[in-house]
Amino acid sequence: METKKRKISIIGSTGSIGTQALEVIEKLQDKFEIIALAGGSNTELLKQQAEKFNPRFIYAATPVSVTGIKTVESLEEICSNKENDIILVAVSGKIGLKPTLKAIENGIDIALANKETLVMAGDIVMKKAKENGVKIVPVDSEHCAIHQCIKDITQVEKLIITASGGPFLHKSVADMKNATVEQALAHPRWHMGKKITVDSATLMNKGLEIIEAHHLFGFDYNKIDVVVHPQSVVHSAIEYVDGSVIAQLGLPSMHIPIQYAITYPERFEGIKSKSFSFAEIARLDFEKPDFEKFPCVKLAYQAGKTGGTATVCLNAANEEAVFAFLDGKIKLYNIYEITAEMMSQHKVIEHPTIDEIFAVDNEVRRLTREYIDKLIQRVR
Ligand code: NDP
Ligand code: MG
Repeated sequence: METKKRKISIIGSTGSIGTQALEVIEKLQDKFEIIALAGGSNTELLKQQAEKFNPRFIYAATPVSVTGIKTVESLEEICSNKENDIILVAVSGKIGLKPTLKAIENGIDIALANKETLVMAGDIVMKKAKENGVKIVPVDSEHCAIHQCIKDITQVEKLIITASGGPFLHKSVADMKNATVEQALAHPRWHMGKKITVDSATLMNKGLEIIEAHHLFGFDYNKIDVVVHPQSVVHSAIEYVDGSVIAQLGLPSMHIPIQYAITYPERFEGIKSKSFSFAEIARLDFEKPDFEKFPCVKLAYQAGKTGGTATVCLNAANEEAVFAFLDGKIKLYNIYEITAEMMSQHKVIEHPTIDEIFAVDNEVRRLTREYIDKLIQRVR
């Protein structure tokens, strides 16, 4: 008997996660019907995707039109369409937050790749999801791993998030300080969008993931550990109160967590490069993260523990600094210094509304850009 197709929209379909999601959907074409695809400025790719997958609606930040397909006005319009069973939020940065909230208000389940949504407004998003009976299934591989490990969350003692360590794991601090954009973008395990790749080099990505885990699973920060695991085979683990540790393993591929999140609770044979073999992997290494070399992790713990708009500030300052690094304006190490400075200046609002979150986000970005400009002038 044929099962009902799951109606899905992908916001951020032209990005790294979005394109891999479409590969999964292509493989599982009898399981999905695409309602909408949306992207930013890569309208060429969006058009190709629309022609191939024939969604009912498209949206792009840069105006786009495809014959026979309706163009909608906003991501929010897509996320208000109750025909959707699930929406994959795969845009990067703060633009993920409002559409996610819209989907939740409309009772639509979420496959969440966009971690910034939870870093900026985790308390509000998770509360609303609960009130509306909406499932949020994480795409981020570590959280997806934890999601798969948890059977009874009340018996879990702590979460153990693995980190590949990025391209500078065994390089000197000096190498890291002088890293070029190219070196920072050369991630040893994952091919991802530029922003998250730089975050993986500074390990801020891990910091954001700690905050993401806190919100998704409701654990205190002192119950969320990070361990460096360069092979990226153990995607994360949990420890139960009785000392049993359950980990989720797999070959490093984002197809697997993306597929898990959009098909949950079902599983299908999807894109699997080959069968898993412990013997072929041969060894799995683990080491303590070096918080002195990667201070961004500490900064994120601190922001998380402070709560309120501290994580909004962390996210906004870091993102602006990453953009400045990608533009060749600052060095990799400045990202930490700039973010730490913005954090120290920030006056935290403990229980912000969404409007206050966006106001803080805007203000911190403005201050960060101003600070970066001064920094550049000083160096000249
Ligand atoms: P990319 O930069 O590759 O993709 C971002 C997507 O967002 C693109 O489709 C882009 O469109 C779209 N976009 C940008 N601006 C707008 C806008 N104004 N309106 C609509 N769409 C817009 O990022 P990734 O795929 O790497 O990451 C996406 C999210 O997933 C991030 O939050 C990241 O942290 C998270 N994530 C990613 C992982 C990965 O392996 N890549 C792993 C875990 C989490 P366009 O290209 O057309 O401009
Ligand atoms: Mg991750």
